[in-house]
Amino acid sequence: MRGSRDSEGRACEHGRVTALDPLDPVLVEAIDVLRLRLPLATPLHSAAGPRTERTVLLVHVIAHESEGWAECVAEAEPTYAPEYVEGVSLVLRNHLLPRAWAGPIGDGVALGPHLAAVRGHPMAVAALELAVLDAQLRAEGRSLASWLGATAAAVPAGASLGLHDNVVDLLAEADRALTAGAARLRVKVAPGRAAGPVLALRNHVGPDVPLQADANGTFRTDEPAHLAELERLDEAVLTCLEQPLAPDDLVGHARLAARLRTPICLDESITSVGSLEAAVALGACGILCVKPGRVGGWVAARAIHDRCVELGLPAWVGGMLETGLGRAANLAVAALPGMTLPPDLDPRGRFDPDLADPGLPGPDGLVAVPAAPGIGITPDPAMLADASVERSRRR
Ligand code: MG
Repeated sequence: MRGSRDSEGRACEHGRVTALDPLDPVLVEAIDVLRLRLPLATPLHSAAGPRTERTVLLVHVIAHESEGWAECVAEAEPTYAPEYVEGVSLVLRNHLLPRAWAGPIGDGVALGPHLAAVRGHPMAVAALELAVLDAQLRAEGRSLASWLGATAAAVPAGASLGLHDNVVDLLAEADRALTAGAARLRVKVAPGRAAGPVLALRNHVGPDVPLQADANGTFRTDEPAHLAELERLDEAVLTCLEQPLAPDDLVGHARLAARLRTPICLDESITSVGSLEAAVALGACGILCVKPGRVGGWVAARAIHDRCVELGLPAWVGGMLETGLGRAANLAVAALPGMTLPPDLDPRGRFDPDLADPGLPGPDGLVAVPAAPGIGITPDPAMLADASVERSRRR
């Protein structure tokens, strides 16, 4: 999709042009890539296993006029997506940064199409592009949210609940999330650990709490027991069932959508406007989870958002266990008018202490969208020093 943007920074998809205001380039003096290890405040269990800490990769642009920050969403291991922290570090060092320095390094919007010469690696591209955009927006005194066209000043906070070995623990975690202000609950599920826990959760929270389930592609349509368990999930009256099948199985998702009452939400399957078009044409996608850091960046996420609006497709911004820095950037997309469902913004925060203010919900249950220039936040210098494992500079 990045290749289909024109040089003036407009997202061109299927002949349609959505204008984003041009930004003055900044004079980049150096770019740091930092790797940090931060303990999670509460361990998170998913189909990929338990997690107790997060390896965080940051890109820091030092420009003459300003500085820019971005948090990469890649995880330590390639279990959610093919990209992972070590790989992103190598791709940045050996392929993206040399090309950026030889091209429009001070203009994040022009950088996206320029870096399309490197196939794939959307998480690495997104982080580099956002760090440059952040520096440009700070230099102009403009927030990322307003530049993207956000219309909401605050958004509700959706909580994600991990896979639990017993239902009592799951219900206790749900209670904590609701007490902290969660507007909806999303629970990780896997074969054999889906229908039972989710139906118990529905029974526990009552009919009015919006519930979602995320299977991270762990079910198979050629396993009768898997299909039977997914059909039982209909009884829980979920807002959606997210990514039940493997990311490349669009036809399987379409067949499942025809079989279930619960709308199918796609996450890992959707990497671009093109893959969204294919999924919608097949009937595989009734709701979309958009992760700007996974789809190639914030300009790409805006283009996907715009297509969702045209299609009337409900959408929401998903989280990747971001620190406050990544949450702030995600809020800019979550505040776009087509993001019709609550985003992943765990109301409890994920880190204690966090690298930056995690933006927790206020008494009204809403999280304020940063209005300060750029992503609206910078990391705490003491935390950076404490948690930094590795730092490399290119100038
Ligand atoms: Mg997901």
